[in-house]
Amino acid sequence: MIDKYPIKLLIGTDYPILEKIRCAENLFHVYGMEILSDRTIQSLLETYRQAIQQSWMQMKMIGLVTECTDCAVNDGGSCCGRGIEDRFDVVLLLINLLMGCRLPLSPWNETGCWFLGEQGCVIPARHVICVNYICKRLGSKLEKKGLRLLQEKIVLETDAGFALEESIKKWLRNKGL
Ligand code: SF4
Repeated sequence: MIDKYPIKLLIGTDYPILEKIRCAENLFHVYGMEILSDRTIQSLLETYRQAIQQSWMQMKMIGLVTECTDCAVNDGGSCCGRGIEDRFDVVLLLINLLMGCRLPLSPWNETGCWFLGEQGCVIPARHVICVNYICKRLGSKLEKKGLRLLQEKIVLETDAGFALEESIKKWLRNKGL
């Protein structure tokens, strides 16, 4: 099953999202337990999980989550628009599966990102473009000190995500994939 996917699919983004999800699911099915038992990956995964949690806590604390919900519900905000999912590669999708998340097999809303659900984003490991984006409204409405602290947490999150992705890619390459 895995053989049918070329190595560039593991790294590149030039395939339809559903194909990349299927590939990530196959990898998870075949290698998931083995990957999760790798000590280095275990530790990087835990660091990443904690960094994501810290970012979310800070986002809630400074009122960003409330502001984004209000924008989406009352002002037709469309940050999580259709097509952003195309930036995901198979390894990032695999990380979401390793974190216990199930990936949707169809979008909830045709005009939104594939990973946008009724209550917002449904995946823990988001693309760096999602994590980094602070729109003008947030920039002007939220307190500067809180935003600065959030940006520090975001750097920790994206650094941790990058280290984990690289480690998993290396693991897969060692398997000859
Ligand atoms: S935050 Fe989630 S739903 Fe929004 S664009 Fe990123 S992956 Fe998609």
